Amino acid sequence: MSETDLSERVRSKIRDFPDFPKPGIVFKDITPIFSHHDTLKAVTEALSARYAAQNIDAVVGIESRGFLVGAPVAFHMGAGLVLVRKQGKLPGPVVRKTYDLEYGQDTLEIQEDALRPGMRVVVMDDLLATGGTMGATLELIRDQGVEVVEAAFLVELSFLNGREKLGDVDCHAIVVF
Ligand code: AMP
Repeated sequence: MSETDLSERVRSKIRDFPDFPKPGIVFKDITPIFSHHDTLKAVTEALSARYAAQNIDAVVGIESRGFLVGAPVAFHMGAGLVLVRKQGKLPGPVVRKTYDLEYGQDTLEIQEDALRPGMRVVVMDDLLATGGTMGATLELIRDQGVEVVEAAFLVELSFLNGREKLGDVDCHAIVVF
């Protein structure tokens, strides 16, 4: 399937919900991408093929919808899945990064021994909005000496300029609004 065909197929499965979860936000509901097997398969195969020749050691998935994207791709590619989670969810020694939200702050954590220096990873989340979440994740894992091959998303809201928060890391999105 061409990139354009995949993009159109995925776009057709995204629903807009205005004023969710709060007034002024247009929420992009991506759940139909996962409930339709043909779309899930197409996304998984396309992302796996994109990184097949890149010697990826692990996919890093960001809680929680990044797990939905990352797990099938990791499995299909023959790589591991490493979890970046919200504060207080992962047991044992963790490293963390706090970042600014529109109102307030949030903290992401990864287990201290989840990655090793030199590993090649792709980081996945469902959607790039302001880039705060991915930006903090990239700082968190690059502190651990991994090589980030790309940050990948199903959806990018390009009008929010999230790419600016990703520094020099390459960024890929299947659908760009
Ligand atoms: P950000 O840190 O601003 O790039 O926000 C990214 C995270 O928030 C992603 O994990 C998305 O799941 C979620 N998110 C932000 N904005 C939206 C939106 N308009 N629709 C759906 N999810 C969103």
